[in-house]
Amino acid sequence: MTKIRKSFLTKAVSLLLILVMMISIMPFAEISVSAKTSADFSISDNGIAFICAREGFHSNCYKDNTQSSIGYGTKCTGSSVQPHTSGSHSITRERALAEMKSQVDSTYSPRVRCQTTGITMNQTQFDALVSLCYNTGGGTTIISNSPLVKYLRGSYSESQARTAYSCYYVKSGGTTLQGLINRRNAEADLFFSGSSPDPVDFEIDTRYPTPITAYPAANSGKITVYNNSLTAYSQSTRFIAWDDKCTINAIYTNGYCNVTYPSGNSTHTEFVKTSDFIPNGVTPYSWHSNENKNTFIRSDLNSLFGSISSSDYCTIVGKNGNTIQIIYPLDAGGFKLGWVDATVVPASDFPTPMIDTLHHPVTSTHTLPSIRWATLMVKCFLMIDALLLL
Ligand SMILES: [Zn+2]
Repeated sequence: MTKIRKSFLTKAVSLLLILVMMISIMPFAEISVSAKTSADFSISDNGIAFICAREGFHSNCYKDNTQSSIGYGTKCTGSSVQPHTSGSHSITRERALAEMKSQVDSTYSPRVRCQTTGITMNQTQFDALVSLCYNTGGGTTIISNSPLVKYLRGSYSESQARTAYSCYYVKSGGTTLQGLINRRNAEADLFFSGSSPDPVDFEIDTRYPTPITAYPAANSGKITVYNNSLTAYSQSTRFIAWDDKCTINAIYTNGYCNVTYPSGNSTHTEFVKTSDFIPNGVTPYSWHSNENKNTFIRSDLNSLFGSISSSDYCTIVGKNGNTIQIIYPLDAGGFKLGWVDATVVPASDFPTPMIDTLHHPVTSTHTLPSIRWATLMVKCFLMIDALLLL
């Protein structure tokens, strides 16, 4: 009788031990399950980078509806007369970033918190809502009535929210703008991805102005796209066609860029090797054209893309034989990536030497620290031990 009881106790304790060990080595054991609301968040570094990439950087003030904007879309405070003469004030990237962060913290994040009181969300969902708020001003009910918040309240499914959100506040002066549709779709991707690129891995290369309208450099085939862990999608599920008109939202120092591309009636935003757009990259170099010139979609100079005016400040980013690849500003805001005949660029305009510094090798930072492997092994040994007791 005593013997039976003892053996039963040993078995029970062993089973309990096994159960505890198994739970502790399961991956989900490390994920926090505590629910957070908007009150718990301020914008993340990734959220700031996301907004910067979509606003684009303007070193000079420009007319933005009724006000003058500068830098990453903040109001230019250079003079009380609004709007200012285009180009009458200038700002550095550092100063522009500081002003943008300060406005987000003092105005836009509080507006998001105020309109989403008590609603459970995660960091990327908060960041996406701040981007909407920064873009629209977030007045009174713009955030609380948004399809994304309706999803959080349970009134919409993900696909209903995505569909409704892709046409939410996409007009400027009565006209629907593709750039605003792209921005809403990118915000929805950020919102529903539940994760964001590690800002340490993805450092924006600030030498490239964004956002940039661009076509892939290839003249046939498909371009491979990558998720935010830089794992390639199978080309049978996701790809960019060679003739897709894309928007490059940000170019990173790791050799990849963030691209919005058409997919059916919608768009996707993923990562692409920068060399698929800038195949013969050179150290970016500021260049002031002195005459109006046509720009072309590819280096063969066959398809007209647009033009640069004599006053445009361009960035030379690549060279292929007798053609030069440039990023140049558009009157309506943003930039284009196009090619011009190299004969329009005097040799003296080039930096020397023209070295390809664009394509850095990518180093993985996603390996488990050895300490976690050691803990795992100890747990496994304990589990085997407990099993032997049975
Ligand atoms: Zn100004």
